[in-house]
Amino acid sequence: MSSICQSCGACCASFRVDFHPAELAGGAFAWGQGVPSAMTVPVTPAVVRMCGTDDAAPRCVALAGEIGQAVRCTIYDERPSPCREFDVEHAACLRARQRHGMSI
Ligand code: SF4
Ligand code: SF4
Repeated sequence: MSSICQSCGACCASFRVDFHPAELAGGAFAWGQGVPSAMTVPVTPAVVRMCGTDDAAPRCVALAGEIGQAVRCTIYDERPSPCREFDVEHAACLRARQRHGMSI
């Protein structure tokens, strides 16, 4: 996680986070201990979603802290692949930051 991300967290409170259940704890493609099932909701047999990311005001259940101040992912070592693929180089990073009142 880059230092800018540690004082941001906007993407964790902007977008749905969907992934294959194989990344859940005990799954064949789990990172580390795997994403705790209790932090997810099933969408289809092949898709689970991080709780809170589909709310009207989205915020991943695993995000701790205050957006735009200081945040951390409480399951960083286990976080699912969409989170691993997203960073400040992603076009949606700026969109997320603007949504939360931040600029660059
Ligand atoms: S929106 Fe961009 S800067 Fe903010 S936490 Fe996500 S990747 Fe980092
Ligand atoms: S799992 Fe962690 S990195 Fe992924 S959206 Fe939730 S808080 Fe952010």
